[in-house]
Amino acid sequence: MTLAWQGWEAPVSRERNEFDLLVHSGRVIDPASGRDAITDVAVTDGKIAAVGSHIERSKAAQVIDATGLIVAPGLVDLHVHAYHGVNAYGMDVDPLCQATGVTTAVDAGSSGPVNFEGFRDFVVRHTRTRLYGFVAVAQHGVTRDPGDLVHPDLADAEGAARVVRENPEIAVGIKIRLASDKVATDGEDALALGLQAAALCGRPLMVHIGETPLRLEKIVRALRPGDIITHCFTPLAPSVTRRSGELRDGMLEAQERGVIFDVAHAGGHFGFDVVKNALAGGLVPNSISTDIHGRTDALARGFLITDVMIKFMALGLGISEVIRLTTSAPAAIISQEDKIGSVTVGRSADLAVLAIEHGRFTFTDTVGKNLESDARLSARWTIRAGEVHDARLNAPNAC
Ligand SMILES: [Zn+2]
Repeated sequence: MTLAWQGWEAPVSRERNEFDLLVHSGRVIDPASGRDAITDVAVTDGKIAAVGSHIERSKAAQVIDATGLIVAPGLVDLHVHAYHGVNAYGMDVDPLCQATGVTTAVDAGSSGPVNFEGFRDFVVRHTRTRLYGFVAVAQHGVTRDPGDLVHPDLADAEGAARVVRENPEIAVGIKIRLASDKVATDGEDALALGLQAAALCGRPLMVHIGETPLRLEKIVRALRPGDIITHCFTPLAPSVTRRSGELRDGMLEAQERGVIFDVAHAGGHFGFDVVKNALAGGLVPNSISTDIHGRTDALARGFLITDVMIKFMALGLGISEVIRLTTSAPAAIISQEDKIGSVTVGRSADLAVLAIEHGRFTFTDTVGKNLESDARLSARWTIRAGEVHDARLNAPNAC
């Protein structure tokens, strides 16, 4: 493997250098601080050592020339499935994260009270991407067939709450799925268990929607500020918009009250018509996430995080906004905004170096509708605690 990447200068002796790494002359967009300027970011010992213009290249052992590129905080993907080898949806998220600028990922309930410990010890501790996790009320995490809460006696709200309380450094909330093949009846009992667990541990509840037997209006009314609707733009009924295109009653009010609407695109949960109508009605998502998992090829199906970001740009959101929705916003949703999601001196050097390529591109949603875009977004480098991953080298070989 060659190190002769464009824009990469070979490392020289460490002793002579003030910094380990310099990301030079990129457009640093850091919504948390409001910074949007061409500037430099220097890294030492895995932490951000300096942000500012005209840091001399000779002061750094390694230099990434980010001229013409965007330097964002490392992206935070609020919805992934990382418990590979154990959970039916699991995947090793490192290759895709390193290929897309994602330095933090949040597992959406792959483990429950019975097997969270394995997730923590065998996955979180061995994954280069920083991982957090929602803990399922279902004892063994979200399951495929039979669905996780089809047998309610397998639920353990108190156990899930206990696990979250005992693992505050990793566990960030509770997860339930309100899909007709995942719950026993109409999902009302599952929602009650989720709310009970979330109240017991004092953390947010993440609720999957899509093919949900319970009325959405009822669900959002039951949620507390900080609780999360994931797959918020699913075209699978009931959607947040009615067939007429109007937002359902209570969606905007819920968001104003602090209920979080998270995208989680996946292979089945993103309809351009739903998004357009929701945006037109004033419902901008609170976070942009992917739902990458081991059963669908996110690259081939066009829902890498950079794809989902550019889809929102094609639908009218600006670059700073989509970066906010993939950095400081999800960081705050999991109460980690003091640690991740911003380019700040002293913090872990988690950075995404992104490229916007102009041209004519077509993106597809999960019901086969196309959307034209005059740009495409991709990651060039993913930097996690100062460790540099060439996003192109790590990109999977599909397509
Ligand atoms: Zn998921």
